[in-house]
Amino acid sequence: MQQQADNAQPMNSNTLVPAASAEVASGPSAPEAPPARFDTLPLDAKLLAAIEYPTMSPIQAKAIPLVLEGRDVMGAAQTGTGKTAAFSIPLLQKMMKHENASMSPARHPVRALVLAPTRELAVQVAANIKKYASKSNLRSAVVFGGMNMKEQTIELKAGVEVLVATPGRLLDHIEAKNCNLSQVEYVVLDEADRMLDIGFLPDLQRILSYLPKQRQTLLFSATFSTEIKKLAQSYLQDPILVETARPNETAANVEQRFYRADDDSKRLIIRQILRDRAITQSIVFVNSKLGAARLARSFERDGLRTTALHGDKSQDERLKALDAFKRGEVDLLVATDVAARGIDIAALPAVFNFDIPFNAEDYVHRIGRTGRAGASGLAVSLVTGSDARLMTDIEKLIKKKIDVETFALEVERRPERASFTRERQGGDSESYSRDVRPVRSAPRRSQPVDPFFDKPYEPDPSADPVWEDKAATPTMPGAGAGAGVSRLIKPKRKVAALLCGLGITRS
Ligand code: AMP
Repeated sequence: MQQQADNAQPMNSNTLVPAASAEVASGPSAPEAPPARFDTLPLDAKLLAAIEYPTMSPIQAKAIPLVLEGRDVMGAAQTGTGKTAAFSIPLLQKMMKHENASMSPARHPVRALVLAPTRELAVQVAANIKKYASKSNLRSAVVFGGMNMKEQTIELKAGVEVLVATPGRLLDHIEAKNCNLSQVEYVVLDEADRMLDIGFLPDLQRILSYLPKQRQTLLFSATFSTEIKKLAQSYLQDPILVETARPNETAANVEQRFYRADDDSKRLIIRQILRDRAITQSIVFVNSKLGAARLARSFERDGLRTTALHGDKSQDERLKALDAFKRGEVDLLVATDVAARGIDIAALPAVFNFDIPFNAEDYVHRIGRTGRAGASGLAVSLVTGSDARLMTDIEKLIKKKIDVETFALEVERRPERASFTRERQGGDSESYSRDVRPVRSAPRRSQPVDPFFDKPYEPDPSADPVWEDKAATPTMPGAGAGAGVSRLIKPKRKVAALLCGLGITRS
């Protein structure tokens, strides 16, 4: 255990080591040690009985002993590495001393607060925590937006030791005085990079200001931007950095392919790859909500069991779509970046980037959905002539030269086309195609009419697309974290201070 802790990098809050330059905490050199077992940890029997896996994942082996020791930890880990157990199991262990079977809410104050960027991630994290705490009397609950507050309030008022929340909804509950955070001892900022992308920085600052200063704080992030390091510097005390892979790097066991495509060929390429490689399930990522709905309907017409996951779906629809996909009742999940986070599907064989993401970091997150837990995975990205700038961003982030290949489509399906590109303001781009062949006598087949797309776009008022609006917005040069906060974040929640201006120093 000592050796695992030694692999981690001590960090001084005032001189935060840039994650990229920190040595990667890797396993011992030869001979390779067997994975550490959970039963070697000083864990309560009730917790051990609820852990269904015998051995720890690398992030767990490194982080759990440190969290048990009471250290603040900065974890460089994506969803799928076992990071939820890495923070929740030791925190549950630390709370076991307060475990009691009393019905009194006062005996179950919130002691651990886990903040997650999306409802999907919050639900998933909460489900894992419930499982790990299932043999104990420790209670947990999850609160997130887009749902009626009533049921959440009843649960909160009954008392819970672990509260998992999305920031906006937590503030609603705090304002409504539905929960008291004065006894919080442990805070986890999960997928912190995503929370900043979405524009949750002001909400985070506000929530953290309500919490006792004396606490243990853990921050997990798949990527480590300057803003994340500033966040850690401001809110973590003398944190230790643990990482299982260098941040901003894509998993080595994911086969990454980039194919030249145009708007018409993208779907055909995906279908051919699914057929050729006998891929049973995959996620197809698109950049817009409308694009997701449209593409899902096209795949459905192709005979693939498809469902769309995006912010205009109601919360209930989204959870149902995810469940159906997890149960294998759906072949393709067409998703916006909401699905890039928090979806935990064992052994997903492939992901497709139908659109190249606006933020290079989303590329890393998206392809992290495949090749999990050592399994091999395939990530195919379809690149149009207008994606050059986005591709350069990805190359810079993953520090690899990308080779864009030509895909050999099996059937000649349409006349040759020439394409040209029009750059839209803000770097977003659209490619247009036009037929350069003379029109032949054979009439063009008329396109099937889908009334769904004839009606004007109407956002669903029940949806809460806070994260999605922001995530789909291209990052503008010079725009810091938290810039361009979503329109759905109430102005009263905004605080003027930016991280650098906080002047928070801890000794
Ligand atoms: P997470 O990274 O927390 O989203 O976890 C991804 C998945 O890995 C979840 O389904 C966990 O149940 C599973 N998992 C967590 N820890 C382990 C472990 N030590 N061995 C096997 N699976 C695990």
